[in-house]
Formats: sequence, structure tokens, C-alpha cells
Amino acid sequence: MEFKKCMRCGCFFMSDNDVCCNCQSKDRMDISKLNSILDENISYNSIEDLSIASGININNLNRFISNKQISDIDINL
Ligand SMILES: [Zn+2]
Repeated sequence: MEFKKCMRCGCFFMSDNDVCCNCQSKDRMDISKLNSILDENISYNSIEDLSIASGININNLNRFISNKQISDIDINL
């Protein structure tokens, strides 16, 4: 386990995750919201569009994408 800074709230914590335990439930909510949006098979032109559609901030979106926490994402960058 490492001493890490939470990617969402910036607090320090001990874990193998990117976010602290308070933020893990927020991550799960964002991911399920995101997956339901992505299920609609709308293609987005950018991460910004997806961020606006989902209400999830771009830093978190990029993190979910790079961690492969969301299903296939159809963004035409
Ligand atoms: Zn946190």
C-alpha cells in the first residue's frame, strides 16, 4: 500500500486506489451514470461534450477512461 493523494478531493490516504474511501462511492455513482449514458450509443465529439452530458468533470472522465473503468467509449477525437 502506498501513501497517496486522492484524485477527487485531494486528501491523503493509504490505499492502492486512486481515490480515498469517501470518494470511492462517488466514483461508483459517476461510473454507473456514465455507463447508462454510454449505453444510449450516442457518439460524442469530445470529452468536453461527454462531461456536459454526464455532469462529470473532465479529470474524472479521463481517469475512468485510462483506468478502463467504463465500457467502450465512442468519442471521435
Ligand atoms: Zn477523496
